[in-house]
Amino acid sequence: MSIAINTIEENLLEENKRGSCPSEFGFGTVFSDHMFTQEYEVGRGWYDAEISPYHNLSLDPSAAVLHYSQEIFEGLKAYRTPDGGINLFRPEDNFARFNRSARRMVMPEVDSAFHLEALTRLISIDQSWVPNQEGSSLYIRPTMIATSPKIGLGASANYCHFIIVGPAGPYFTGGFNPISVYISDDYRRAVVGGVGEAKTGGNYAASLFISEDVAKKGYTQVLWLDAVEGRYVEEVGAMNICFVYEGKRIVTPALSGSILAGITRDSVLQLAPTLGYEISEERLDINQILADIKSGLITEVFGCGTAAVISPVGQFAFKGEDYVINNNQSGDVSKHLYDELTGIQYGIKDDPFGWTQKVQL
Ligand SMILES: *Cc1c(COP(=O)(O)O)cnc(C)c1O
Repeated sequence: MSIAINTIEENLLEENKRGSCPSEFGFGTVFSDHMFTQEYEVGRGWYDAEISPYHNLSLDPSAAVLHYSQEIFEGLKAYRTPDGGINLFRPEDNFARFNRSARRMVMPEVDSAFHLEALTRLISIDQSWVPNQEGSSLYIRPTMIATSPKIGLGASANYCHFIIVGPAGPYFTGGFNPISVYISDDYRRAVVGGVGEAKTGGNYAASLFISEDVAKKGYTQVLWLDAVEGRYVEEVGAMNICFVYEGKRIVTPALSGSILAGITRDSVLQLAPTLGYEISEERLDINQILADIKSGLITEVFGCGTAAVISPVGQFAFKGEDYVINNNQSGDVSKHLYDELTGIQYGIKDDPFGWTQKVQL
């Protein structure tokens, strides 16, 4: 299928007419000049693939996504390299996960090669939006929504797949600072057999209540325990989590069926052994973890995900008690992994894994 290209200047939104990336941006509120869209209908397949000026979507108020949340998304980044090029990091893994999420939510899959072509064309057209300030990147948000106008419950017959992109500032502005994490004893993120493995909007809507509540108490993120026993460590916010034992062994919860399989998590598991660390994936009892923090066996804790890459955890709160890690300072292992991973992403370090690919501009 070919992609129709409509880049007519006068069709740009008024606020986008600057035509290139502003010098100041945070995360997730500024988007580039163009977007990719394609439509799907059962029996017909995908059609009307187009790159056009960034615009509002037009939906019937009865569109299925607005009522029953049949929706999926992805999150990845494009990085400006020192030679002025643009790198993508493991995009096929994001597109494979997009299709796994699609299957779980009874939505149509998107051909991975076509998905990559659509994204590449979009980045090429909006290349001036890929920032070059240190630590910044272009955040990429592929999304699919159910658009059939019907409020009877059932899978939609129509879908819209779109990709929007926008500049993302450095995640760490005041240095590589640790976050404080509240361990939720009452609220759960996902259950085995549910949709925790899928990147689908409902998971995040369900997490807002406790996240907002603990934000008022000064915590940055929530650590989620398994939903059956409330005992096993799963994730931190929308990141996977790793514990460092004695500065040399990195332990992360094994994928349980309710944990989102992060690409950063997988990258850490592949990269760390080449840097001299041991790794293991285990079922981690929160009581043992907290005891190991108290005894000093656990020397660092960090979250990992596309947005922050590596986010050190300085302290946990659980049932009214605080557990401080590494004197609330970021540690050497977290920093080492952060430098190596971001070095590969930005094309500053060698990429022995073949994770990055240059966007043809
Ligand atoms: C996206 C996400 C992650 C991290 O995945 P990456 O591929 O590393 O960005 C972890 N947990 C949840 C719940 C997520 O939504």
